Amino acid sequence: MTAGSTVRLADLPLREDLRGKSPYGAPQLDVAVRLNTNENPYPPPPELVADVAASVEEAARELHRYPDRDLVALRGDLAAYLSRQTGVELTTANLWAANGSNEILQQILQTFGGPGRTALGFVPSYSMHPILASGTQTEFVPVPRRDDFTLDIDAAVTVLAEKAPDVTFVTSPNNPTGQSVAPADLARLVDAAPGMVVVDEAYAEFAEATGRPSATTLLATHGHKLVVSRTMSKAFAFAGGRLGYLAAAPAVIDALQLVRLPYHLSVLSQAAARAALRHAEATLGSVALLAAERDRISGELAAAGYDVVASDANFILFGRFADAGRAWKGFLDQGVLIRDVGIPERLRVTVGTPEENDAFLTAATDLATQEL
Ligand code: PMP
Repeated sequence: MTAGSTVRLADLPLREDLRGKSPYGAPQLDVAVRLNTNENPYPPPPELVADVAASVEEAARELHRYPDRDLVALRGDLAAYLSRQTGVELTTANLWAANGSNEILQQILQTFGGPGRTALGFVPSYSMHPILASGTQTEFVPVPRRDDFTLDIDAAVTVLAEKAPDVTFVTSPNNPTGQSVAPADLARLVDAAPGMVVVDEAYAEFAEATGRPSATTLLATHGHKLVVSRTMSKAFAFAGGRLGYLAAAPAVIDALQLVRLPYHLSVLSQAAARAALRHAEATLGSVALLAAERDRISGELAAAGYDVVASDANFILFGRFADAGRAWKGFLDQGVLIRDVGIPERLRVTVGTPEENDAFLTAATDLATQEL
């Protein structure tokens, strides 16, 4: 018998606010077509794999030592990449990195949120924002988006002035709905918010491919209150590598040092991420194709009678179903795993390879004829 297996979770002296909660995570099912976690469907090219392997081997020779705690080389590479990608000149001092942008967001909340403080988000949005708030004992204030899931900027400005949150999350493009927020509108939100505004740009490369600029363009004017969070998990095809980063004013990076764990990013993670960044062009070559596939899927879903939310990202929210949970199961029964994000009547599908998208569209066309 497993040692301690008679101990029940309910018997532990757990924090009251964690009682009865479930861990976050999409089902990891062994299904042929997996379109549920917004990854890039294309595996890394062989030259990237070889570079990661060689770099990790080199780094392994130093495994008896702690890694560079300040991630200086990696931050320099990220600054160069982000400057190229967004056209905004950024340096090492503007960048910080962690194990996925989830850890980045957690560090931001540890620094600027916490007990007695509030974080505001425009819902529906990324469901980890309230969970990270809860984990850091920051009160989460959900503010509804319009019925079509767009942001009403005038209303948001009023709400920010009224609620005065310590941290505001704006996801652009928004997960799970897909719309992005223009920098001019973001500037109005930052002006109205008394605390830090975190623009979560996990899917930005997909939007940038269609000419929508990053919020980094505002750092020069709004850097005292703005943090732009990004990740290598999505367009960059590095979800398994766990590398998230942010761009902000140097003082913000200094503030984050007060909460980061020493040596949080292993020598292997740093080496692998630097190798992947050397192949950015090859990896991001798939972005235009994925954006074109996104538009093809949207068009075909609409033609099959679905209600489709226009997306700037690599996923699409669609419906409507009488019972989204039952419809999700209908797709699964046809070998296609998509995501029930908890929005009534809707489901979210990630853009996959053309073959995977065809399998999804076949299932969707079939299910459109059924009462779901
Ligand atoms: N932000 C948003 C909006 C996301 O959708 C995700 C991934 N689902 C993340 C952040 C976190 O991604 P990661 O930790 O892999 O960088």
